[in-house]
Amino acid sequence: MNGLYLRYRTFFRNIVIDILSFHTKPEPGVHILNGHYLSLNDNASPEIFNDLLQGLKNRGVNFINFTEAITLIVNRSIPKGKCLVAFTWDDGFEECFTKIKPVLDRWNLKAAFFINPNFIDGDSSYREHFKREVVFTDKNPMTWEMIKQLAAQGHTIGAHTLDHLSLNSNDVDFLKHQIDGSKMRIEEQLNTGVSHFAFPFGQLKYISAVGVDVACNAFPFVYSQDNYRRYFSFEGKVINRRHFECDWPLNHVIYFLKSKSF
Ligand SMILES: [Zn+2]
Repeated sequence: MNGLYLRYRTFFRNIVIDILSFHTKPEPGVHILNGHYLSLNDNASPEIFNDLLQGLKNRGVNFINFTEAITLIVNRSIPKGKCLVAFTWDDGFEECFTKIKPVLDRWNLKAAFFINPNFIDGDSSYREHFKREVVFTDKNPMTWEMIKQLAAQGHTIGAHTLDHLSLNSNDVDFLKHQIDGSKMRIEEQLNTGVSHFAFPFGQLKYISAVGVDVACNAFPFVYSQDNYRRYFSFEGKVINRRHFECDWPLNHVIYFLKSKSF
């Protein structure tokens, strides 16, 4: 896909969501939102995320810590009549620490960060390839020191494979290398167990049934970024999240806080 096409697609998609979201209200349920960065615009202020949180709160949304949200979902004990939202970010970009965490601190909120160890450990040519060919942004990763601070302050650190590759494969050695390998590397650094795993690219087509089984053998909690109106995919093995970014318009985020079912 070329940049011009993507820009047009985003432009028209935004107009459609503007129209659709005009009268929408946040729906009751436990919603796990999943972003990547503060904004693709490196000059954006963290205030845009603070403003989004304030706007959501004004519209009746309650924020909860990530682990509380997961407990409610796994126990299938969704409080009636409340719209509860928890946050996660994938790929471990530096601005998760430098720009997003300070806003979370203001709101006393704990989130989850799913990281790729080889993006952190890789040399400059690995990183350039990762940024240009895999995640399509020029943003740098958090350091292990930043990640340790997040963990020490009660945020959840999860795995996202070693190299951010599609897991739509039946090659068990490959799957174990990417899935178990990312768990081991993070545990080695943090000196604690890692229980949460989000597979890269998020859509259900990017992981095979074998991949789900390898992930579920390694982690108690596995996440997609797809099928967000149902709490689970793959027969209860995978918890679904909804995509958002910190700089999205308030109405667009609210539009995706839809009613959900098990
Ligand atoms: Zn990712």
